[in-house]
Amino acid sequence: AFDVLVVGGGPAGASAAVYAARKGLRTGIVADKFGGQVAETVGIENFISVKATEGPKLVANLEAHVHEYDVDIMDNQRALSLKSGELFELSLESGAVLRSKTILLATGARWREMNVPGEQQYRGSGVAYCPHCDGPLFKGKRVAVIGGGNSGIEAAIDLANIVEHVTVLEFDSSLRADEVLQRKAKSMANIEIITQAMTTEVTGDGKKVTGLNYTNRATGDSHHVELAGIFVQIGLVPNSEWLTDTIDMTARGEIIVDAKGETSVAGVFAAGDVTNSAYKQIIIAMGSGATASLGAFDYLIRHNVD
Ligand code: FAD
Repeated sequence: AFDVLVVGGGPAGASAAVYAARKGLRTGIVADKFGGQVAETVGIENFISVKATEGPKLVANLEAHVHEYDVDIMDNQRALSLKSGELFELSLESGAVLRSKTILLATGARWREMNVPGEQQYRGSGVAYCPHCDGPLFKGKRVAVIGGGNSGIEAAIDLANIVEHVTVLEFDSSLRADEVLQRKAKSMANIEIITQAMTTEVTGDGKKVTGLNYTNRATGDSHHVELAGIFVQIGLVPNSEWLTDTIDMTARGEIIVDAKGETSVAGVFAAGDVTNSAYKQIIIAMGSGATASLGAFDYLIRHNVD
């Protein structure tokens, strides 16, 4: 059995594994896809002490750092359920069951989807979630950004420098982004902001996106906008569904942790974007991974489980 079994191979999981291994604990990492969201990121300029890097480069560094230690890395393995007992039992999609004295959940988050007709069909053919990754594909074209929060307005400002025109569609009657971002977006000639807009359908020609339909929530009128791309920026969903009924979460599905990263189940710790941490960033995920790992170490030395 493991002493610490980390679920998730993003910055939180990698950090937790390094900290656990450095305590001489038997450590394993199970990851659906090592690297997590960082693998999808292009430029990273706020990982302090590294002025600028790129997602894939940081993922390679994370992996190299974990490989410096005796950590059992199980990549391309999805966890399906967690059972408490003398030892925790983590069941994987492959059918395997892993046992450990403590569990460290670092399964991160994913983009929230609109759930409208056409979204799945045209995912990757015009429907995108990552402006940093896919923005350049729409150079000189017309795109929409769904969502007027910080990520939506940041995306609009970013895209406006690349594409011909950006239409921002916000469901509410006003934007939720920080004032400074709103000012910047409104100052850019090729950004149009439409509020009270409920996207109802992604339209396409069978191969790629041609536009979208939305309803004006104030008047009930339907509108069509011709577009080549749609960037969905309506929030992050924590990858915690498989733990419902096992662990206490917020209404949004974020795993609740205390100051040592411990969850409502003694011996189960959590870190990174899957938790109720205030902000979701690489440096924060790594810090909380370290906290949760030291929390697990603390638990192990106090709970004399052999
Ligand atoms: P994640 O990175 O989401 O990793 C989760 C891990 O868990 C993955 O390995 C995943 O495969 C695995 N997993 C999920 N479910 C399961 C399961 N059931 N079983 C097994 N494994 C599972 N932050 C910054 O600080 N600076 C930036 O510039 C920046 N840019 C970003 C750009 C984009 C496009 C995105 C998407 C995010 C960006 N972020 C940035 C945010 C940052 O990437 C996240 O805060 C950080 O990756 C969170 O780390 P994490 O380890 O908690 O989760």
